[in-house]
Amino acid sequence: MRLLLTNDDGAYAPGLKALHRALRDQYEVWVVAPETEQSAVGHAITLADPIRVHPLTPESGLQGWAVSGTPADCVKLAVHELLPQPPEMVLSGINLGANVGVNLLYSGTVSAATEGAILGLPAISLSLATHASSDFSLAAALAAHLVAAYPSLAVPAGVALNVNVPALPAVRIKGVRFCCQSTARLQEKFLRRADPRGHTYYWQSSEKMGTQGDGHTDYLALRQGYVTITPVGPDLTRHQVLKGLQQRGLDLPLDG
Ligand code: MN
Repeated sequence: MRLLLTNDDGAYAPGLKALHRALRDQYEVWVVAPETEQSAVGHAITLADPIRVHPLTPESGLQGWAVSGTPADCVKLAVHELLPQPPEMVLSGINLGANVGVNLLYSGTVSAATEGAILGLPAISLSLATHASSDFSLAAALAAHLVAAYPSLAVPAGVALNVNVPALPAVRIKGVRFCCQSTARLQEKFLRRADPRGHTYYWQSSEKMGTQGDGHTDYLALRQGYVTITPVGPDLTRHQVLKGLQQRGLDLPLDG
């Protein structure tokens, strides 16, 4: 099977290397990833600037390209232009830092997988729930297991799996929870400072989660020590609400 690996931490990030290491012996693995960190760029694509690509360095041991664009750019470009044949699965990560709750909307990692789903490909985003540790080996092994088990999950086309792994030793991981995305909001914190010329600037310094949500959400299950798997897709419609709106209707003042 031909795999496309990408991420938002950059083509030479340790999380991507660990993922590559766990998959390279069993699969044909290509890497098309941003040349610089693109965390929190969401599903942005590059339209007003050219997108430049550079072959990955031989020392990296990776086969593929570093791209001057976003994670979503990487997936599109890989599928349409760069790979000799389209990939059969897209893997994004392993991100340094959890991608749960409303962070899914900001995440370049998750958006790369969603882009894969839009293009009709099986796609998985992977994140390790820490900003401190750089040991991705367990998460990478779980990723390889998930790739092999993917057909048994019967995920329909157009849906990606968003996976988060607790930064815990294997013995302390409680298992896997298939769960929905938490809608708990972030608690933003802005540092207000002055630059050397006396102009005020702001630096977003914290993204601590609120405490809403229950045990069925990705946020809480991850905190409880479970690997979380949430099926996600590009359709943002709230279908229940849509039904209610369609029943109520709305008259527009279009007469005379
Ligand atoms: Mn990232």
